Amino acid sequence: MTINIILLGPPGAGKGTQARKLVEDRGLVQLSTGDMLRAARSSGTEMGKRVAEVMDRGQLVTDEIVIGLIREKLSEGGNGFIFDGFPRTLAQADALGQLLEETGMVLDAVVEMQVDDEALVRRITGRYTCGNCGEVYHDDTKPTKVAGVCDVCGSTDLRRRADDNEHSLKTRLLEYYKKTSPLIGYYYAKGKLAPVDGLADMDRVSDQIAAVLPLSREIATGT
Ligand SMILES: [Zn+2]
Repeated sequence: MTINIILLGPPGAGKGTQARKLVEDRGLVQLSTGDMLRAARSSGTEMGKRVAEVMDRGQLVTDEIVIGLIREKLSEGGNGFIFDGFPRTLAQADALGQLLEETGMVLDAVVEMQVDDEALVRRITGRYTCGNCGEVYHDDTKPTKVAGVCDVCGSTDLRRRADDNEHSLKTRLLEYYKKTSPLIGYYYAKGKLAPVDGLADMDRVSDQIAAVLPLSREIATGT
């Protein structure tokens, strides 16, 4: 038996962190579109050559290609899959549904990582790290004891990620609300939606996700 889930939520909601945890705890395979495209590109397969061609022309990779890559991955089997960052649109959700049906796979749950927009913006834009030792800080929840100096190593090389700024985050949020958030209604209507509080601390979010995964399959995978 396998578990197949989709992680849904705006950028910065913590999907990547939770996906990594599920990979570790449950042995699920994380299907991230970006990783798949990069892997395909360097694989040299027929599909990989198509991906390279499209990307080299600076064009967007079509849904058809992404679905093709997912089809290849699904055929490799395993304990199940986490779709992270896919589907992003209703058309992709339909295509994925069709693919799963063709391959006889069941979508167990769509975990919606719910976040308050204001809190999300604060959480992302307040983050900074030490360029020397990698310690992570936050303006509100964990500032350095001395302004501008790393608590751990004393370095003054504190950095904010360029794409953490408010303008870039709001651009990505807008994209999410326009194209991806309709999936919440879509999967609710299909009876698959499982909302969790994405702003809770990491372990609480994990517990909430664990609670929506099918119990019988948890036993089946031996965890
Ligand atoms: Zn440091």
